Amino acid sequence: MHEGIVGATGGKVASWLELSAGALATNVATLRALSTETGGPRALGAVLKGNAYGHGLAQVLPLVHPLVDVLYFITPGDALTVRTLERARGLPSRQVLVIGAMDAEEAVALAHEGIEAVLGDGSWRDIVTELRRAKPARPLRVHVHVDTGLGREGFTPGQISHGELDFLRDATDVLQVVGVLSHFANTEDVTEQQYAESQLDVFEAGLSALRASVPVQEPLQRHMAASAATLVLPRARYDAQRVGISLYGLWPSVETRLSARLVLGRVPELKPVLSWRCPSQIVKWLPAGSYIGYGCTYRCADATRVAVLPVGYFDGYPRLLSGKAHVLVNGRRCPVLGRVMMNHIIVDVTHATRDERPLTATLLGQEGDEHLHAEALATWAQTIHYELVTRLGAHLRRVVVP
Ligand SMILES: *Cc1c(COP(=O)(O)O)cnc(C)c1O
Repeated sequence: MHEGIVGATGGKVASWLELSAGALATNVATLRALSTETGGPRALGAVLKGNAYGHGLAQVLPLVHPLVDVLYFITPGDALTVRTLERARGLPSRQVLVIGAMDAEEAVALAHEGIEAVLGDGSWRDIVTELRRAKPARPLRVHVHVDTGLGREGFTPGQISHGELDFLRDATDVLQVVGVLSHFANTEDVTEQQYAESQLDVFEAGLSALRASVPVQEPLQRHMAASAATLVLPRARYDAQRVGISLYGLWPSVETRLSARLVLGRVPELKPVLSWRCPSQIVKWLPAGSYIGYGCTYRCADATRVAVLPVGYFDGYPRLLSGKAHVLVNGRRCPVLGRVMMNHIIVDVTHATRDERPLTATLLGQEGDEHLHAEALATWAQTIHYELVTRLGAHLRRVVVP
């Protein structure tokens, strides 16, 4: 999808991302089993925003399409690629929902394609006007967002009771309310879920207010759980779950893992889908006393065999990893020496290889007995793994492996 963007394509000697189709399928099965264990069946949906959490939408979409019931996107443009794929491959049409912002023109395009939208603010009055003018063949199916305490999109139960959605009463020719959703503010960072419980109460009040004031199509699809709530808050499972980070085999947080142990009595296994590998550009000896990288922040105490790797902060390898991270070569940890540069890092391979032949390093993922976790890299870079993976360069080559 990103081919042909002048100036952003990678060279031949460049790092690449490996996506494990098997790990992805295992994670879907694990999450589906969890989501249905307290009653069901429920719909399981994949969140593909942020270029599929940096994994690559073009590669991930064909893999998850047959496995899940719903596909969630931030942008209408990304959502429309689902219908393109379905037509090209003769696939059945999936439920697709845009959870992000859109303008009137985009709303019309979604209605034409049978893609659903989230109604979460007052701008929808203008969108109704535009839909009437454009007269799509079928009404746009919308999910009303209830703001239950995140302070982002949505209407509070009070706003719904006081008539802020009353314009929907006269808009049934162009808008059909088919769902209601909300989003948690504080499920990942805690092991006790009082705030989430209070959000659930507000959600149910919002649901009643909506049914009392606006014509809706029953049964409304109710959905609130992202990964953390799907894993540790059974009450939040409702009719559909929107799983993002866990689909890619990453736990939302350490606290969520701990909560799973408490709530479920076990920790379900999630398998990381992504590995990031890089061929060497140069392998060579530097004599004792040599400086390495910008700022001369590292000096070799002894003669050191180094590998120069053609990857840097442009590709999404954070500069904050300077002097902190390691990569894996032949299953051995090799420290990053000196600063991360725009297009290069230099690593110590003295003990990982016997000569100066080209090698391949693993920047993230499994190699031998060692696994370099996205969480570890994120912690070293003073961020979270959500940010680390979504910032992986869109230009990187992505390869699906079994
Ligand atoms: C990002 C997002 C999700 C998925 O969150 P994860 O923690 O990655 O599972 C679900 N719902 C909404 C509204 C989101 O913005």
